[in-house]
Amino acid sequence: MIDFLLEKMTLRLQTLARQSAALLLYYSRLNNLRQFISNKNYGPKLTILAYHGVEDYLSNGDIFTISTKQFEEQMRYLKENYNVISFLEAIKMKNTLDNSVDLVIITFDDGYKNNYNNAAPILQKYGLNACFFLTTDLITHVPDRLLKTGSIWKFPGMTQDEVKALRNGGFEIGAHTCSHPNLLQIPLEIARNEILWSKNELEQVLGETIEYFAYPGGRKQIHYDDSIKAIVAEEFRVCCTTSRGRNNFQTIDMLELSRICVQNWWSLFYFARELEGTFDFIGRFIN
Ligand SMILES: [Zn+2]
Repeated sequence: MIDFLLEKMTLRLQTLARQSAALLLYYSRLNNLRQFISNKNYGPKLTILAYHGVEDYLSNGDIFTISTKQFEEQMRYLKENYNVISFLEAIKMKNTLDNSVDLVIITFDDGYKNNYNNAAPILQKYGLNACFFLTTDLITHVPDRLLKTGSIWKFPGMTQDEVKALRNGGFEIGAHTCSHPNLLQIPLEIARNEILWSKNELEQVLGETIEYFAYPGGRKQIHYDDSIKAIVAEEFRVCCTTSRGRNNFQTIDMLELSRICVQNWWSLFYFARELEGTFDFIGRFIN
């Protein structure tokens, strides 16, 4: 109980510190200076946002589950202020390097039904593309395997028909393994199967090649390493981590893309500062 309270207090303090820092950097115009220097040295950025659940009933207090109201506010902001693209477009741009403005890609991890029910209609309303990384056991409902990994699912998964409907609606679909294990805590051969089978299952459902992947957990040396990267490199064109940050087009590694995980305590002001890269300079040290 004390541990739980301490953890909650630390989180509160962290969020307060980040909100205050965002305000200070914005109103002192230090953020403008940072942005100017960063753009001059590294050019425009590709920001990849990672969402999880979009749900109004937040019983579990999970910071990665955001409300539909918050989600809609953020999508409206993106529509009005940014150019939101798909991974397919990013791959083409990477080859030509002809982008001249900051770009955003929207992603969802895990494959929750609320992505289909709550997020997709809002995305469609604003004409925004997104990529959904699906944990295939959650889609095909294999509870045994899920129980074995000890994964705790916050919400029910999408059905295969819903996955097809998303794809038919123009959204992108990626793999996120079968049972969402920590790929470094299982033998390499099993890790390979987790990756390949999830790709194959989605290919069977959709009848097309799956080219995008997100590492479960997503942190290098904690959830994946170079031997896992070598496996996914043979199978996919795009792989997302949860390593915090925005991507430079000049130095981008499409097999280890950084992302920013959206959290439910973010105000729209804070969301906007994250998109500007307010915390790029300390990105490695915070989550
Ligand atoms: Zn995940």
